[in-house]
Amino acid sequence: MKKIAILGSTGSIGTQTLEVVRENGDIEVLGLAAGNNIKLLEAQIREFRPKLVAVWKEEKAKELRERIKDINVKVVFGMEGLIELAILEGVEILVTAIVGMIGIRPTIEAIKAGKDIALANKETLVTAGHIIMPLAKEYQVKILPVDSEHSAIFQSLQGNPRGALQKLLLTASGGPFRGRKREELAHIQVEDALKHPNWEMGRKITIDSSTLVNKGLEVIEAKWLFDVTIDQIEVVVHPQSIIHSMVEYVDGAIIAELGTPDMKLPIQYALYYPERRFLPGERVDFAMLSQLTFEKPDLETFYGLRLAFEAGKAGGSLPTVYNAANELAVSKFLERKIQYLEIPEIIETCMNEHRNIQCPTVEEILQTEQEVYEKIESRW
Ligand code: NDP
Repeated sequence: MKKIAILGSTGSIGTQTLEVVRENGDIEVLGLAAGNNIKLLEAQIREFRPKLVAVWKEEKAKELRERIKDINVKVVFGMEGLIELAILEGVEILVTAIVGMIGIRPTIEAIKAGKDIALANKETLVTAGHIIMPLAKEYQVKILPVDSEHSAIFQSLQGNPRGALQKLLLTASGGPFRGRKREELAHIQVEDALKHPNWEMGRKITIDSSTLVNKGLEVIEAKWLFDVTIDQIEVVVHPQSIIHSMVEYVDGAIIAELGTPDMKLPIQYALYYPERRFLPGERVDFAMLSQLTFEKPDLETFYGLRLAFEAGKAGGSLPTVYNAANELAVSKFLERKIQYLEIPEIIETCMNEHRNIQCPTVEEILQTEQEVYEKIESRW
């Protein structure tokens, strides 16, 4: 039995990970962590019987303990609790399906404890990739990508010499506003931006997909995961989301991973790597596919993506600014406190006003995040 723990078990990736566990029947879930959804967490505890459960707030921990007092499971809370879960004895793979930079510390501690990481929490790599990747190498643990594009690249790299890699082609659906110009986005409402054409995801990442900031974060994530330069990464808009990403080699060959959009595929691949398991679900029917189309991203309208290339090239603490400014701007947009077009504006302003720190420590990353938050709170 493979043994795993999940940070963010009640979210979109977390629940799909548990579906994969349920469908395969040979993975033991030793730990679960979540934020506010105590009702779902209780149901997960009753079904999967973990040894340890972590929640963020102390009062939620109390509420949970009361609900599951008939079950023998330890409940912890706060950052200490997340870390206790991340290093839990017996766990082989930690699935980081939490949202935001809160994932940095638990991921670092899990690596130090020798756990492989099935990484969905891209914010961790975007902001602390220069810490995470060398640490993973030092402790000889695997960072297994869960993001579908990165999983596609990871799959396309198998069996090929690393030195022969020319570039990575990250595909993007283009989101619900593909083809529109900036002025047409002025009155976009939360409901419009939450309609992703192909993928069912959490709210924050769905907004990020509509602004192409998600693709921007993925560009920086890919740089760290696959040890390439930002110039070796190209974004290709491919609205059908059948090709999940590609690798171009020095001889011109391009290897891609294709499939119907289903996050369970990359999750399952990460959990069982290098094995491939049966996964129920729809298959690509080429006879039914009328066309696969490709276009360049519109970096003028969706300039959040251009800003990611800039942040990724500059490195240091700038990707943290990019990510933190986006995180808060998106949450303000979801609360209807700012307009849609203010999201990239806020990111750009914060980036322009930042004095970059090269090779920031975790403390400096978190300090930068705080400064960005304070700036945004005081102005918007
Ligand atoms: P969701 O918002 O659906 O889920 C986030 C999870 O994190 C929930 O379980 C939430 O708990 C938990 N959480 C949030 N804050 C805390 C906290 N302070 N302490 C403990 N748990 C917390 O996000 P997604 O599943 O969509 O995304 C998760 C990560 O995966 C993100 O980094 C995203 O970019 C990445 N990703 C997601 C994809 C997708 O298809 N959804 C695809 C590729 C990457 P609760 O709900 O109980 O509050």
